[in-house]
Amino acid sequence: MPPVFNQTVRGMRDFLPQDAKRLRFIEQIARETAELYGYEEVITPAIEYYELLAAKIGEENRKRMYVFEDLGGRKVALRPEFTASIARLVATKLQSAPKPLRLFSVGSLYRYDEPQFGRYREFWQANFELFGSTMPEADAEIISLIDSFLRKIGLRNYCFKIGHVGVLRGIFSQEGIDEEKQNRIMQMLDKKEWEEAIRLMKEAKSSLACLDLLKKLLGTSGSDPASVIKEMREIVDDYPSAIEAVENLNEILDLLKSGGLKTEILIDAGFARGLEYYTGSIFEVYVPEMDIALGGGGRYDRLVELFGGGKVPAVGVAMGMDRISIALEKQGAPTSWGVSERLLVIPVERSMLGEAFKVASMLRENGFSAEIETMGRSVTRALSDADRRGITTVIIGPKEMKEGKVVLRHMIKRKQMTVELDELLEKIKEQTC
Ligand code: AMP
Repeated sequence: MPPVFNQTVRGMRDFLPQDAKRLRFIEQIARETAELYGYEEVITPAIEYYELLAAKIGEENRKRMYVFEDLGGRKVALRPEFTASIARLVATKLQSAPKPLRLFSVGSLYRYDEPQFGRYREFWQANFELFGSTMPEADAEIISLIDSFLRKIGLRNYCFKIGHVGVLRGIFSQEGIDEEKQNRIMQMLDKKEWEEAIRLMKEAKSSLACLDLLKKLLGTSGSDPASVIKEMREIVDDYPSAIEAVENLNEILDLLKSGGLKTEILIDAGFARGLEYYTGSIFEVYVPEMDIALGGGGRYDRLVELFGGGKVPAVGVAMGMDRISIALEKQGAPTSWGVSERLLVIPVERSMLGEAFKVASMLRENGFSAEIETMGRSVTRALSDADRRGITTVIIGPKEMKEGKVVLRHMIKRKQMTVELDELLEKIKEQTC
C-alpha cells in the first residue's frame, strides 16, 4: 500500500471523537460568548485571492501561506487568518452597515509552519472583531469578551499580556524610519531577536538616544499599571505620538480595572506582534502551563481603508482553539464535554426491532442520545458492551411490550426495573440524576 494511504499530510491532523468533542465544545462557548456580547457570525471562504491575504499579514506569515493557482489561472491561497477576509467584507458588502459592527467567525486556517507543540499547519480560531470605534472602550470590550469566554470554558490561571504598537511606531516614525523597515524591526521584536532589531535600527540610522530608549522600553514591563505607565511616560517623553499611545494604553487599562476585570495583566512596553496591520493596543493570552499564546489581537485602524472601504477603525482578537484545547487538557478540565445522557436500546429478538426504533425515536425527540443495537448481538452480549461503556439500556421484549412496558437497566448503579412506556422518560431522569 502506498504510504500516502495510511497517514495524514505533515502538519494535518485527524480529530478523533474525544478531541473533536472538545474542539466543538470550545466553538460552542465561543458562539455563546459572541451572542452575549452582540457579535454576529459571518462565514467567509477558506480560499481568497493571494494579494488580499498577503497585503498586511507580515513577512513571516506571508512566507508560510499555501498559495496556488486555481484551474482558472487565479492566484489564490488558503486563509492563514480571518482578519483580511472580515476587513474585505466590511470594506464591501458591509460598507454601509451601521457602526459599531460586531462580527464573529470561526473555522480552520492554514499556515505552513514547522509542526511542533501547539503549532499545526491546519488550526482553528474563534475570531471577534469590532468595527467603527476608535475609543478605548472598544479595546476594553474585546479584552473583557476574551476573559468571559475563557472563564466560561473553565480555563484557570490565564493572564493577559498587553502593549501598544503606537509607542514603538511613534518613536520609529519620528526617527525617520520608513514603514517597511519598521515592519521588519517589529517582526524581529516579535521573535524576540533583540540584537537583530537593534542592528536594523542602526542600519536605518536611528539616533543613539533612540537606541538607548528602545533598550529601556524592552526592559519595561510589570503587572502594576500605574508604575509601568509612569515609567513608559518618562522614557518616551520626547516623542509626542508615542506619548499619545501610552495615554491610550493607560485609558484601556483604567477601563478594564474600573469594569471589574480580575485577571492578571502584564503590561509590556516592548511587546510586538508579527501581523503588520496593528496600529494601537495589542494583546495576547497565556497560561502558566504553556509558553505559547492561546490567542492574540489588537487594534487595526487602517486595514479596511487599505481594502477601499474608507476610514473604519477596528479592534479584534483571534483565539486559537487548538491551544485552548491543550490548555484545558493540561489543567485537567473534565473530559465529558456536554454529553447528554446516552442510552442503548436493545430488542430482545429481531421481531422487536420496529418497536426498538420507535422507542429510540421517542427518546431522541426528548433530548436523549439513543443508539440502537445494530450488530445483531444477543441481549447478553449487547448488555456487556453497554456495561463496558457505562451506558444505560432500554430492553424491548415482546412480553413487556404487550403490556406497554420496557425494561430499564442502569449499568453503573446496576439497577433494573420494568417501567410503563409512558413513564420511561421520567424514570430515566430519576435514575440518571
Ligand atoms: P495570530 O493570528 O498569529 O495572531 O494567532 C492567533 C492565535 O492563533 C495564536 O495565539 C494561536 O493560539 C493560534 N495559532 C496561530 N498559528 C497557529 C498554528 N500554526 N497552530 C496552532 N495555533 C495557531
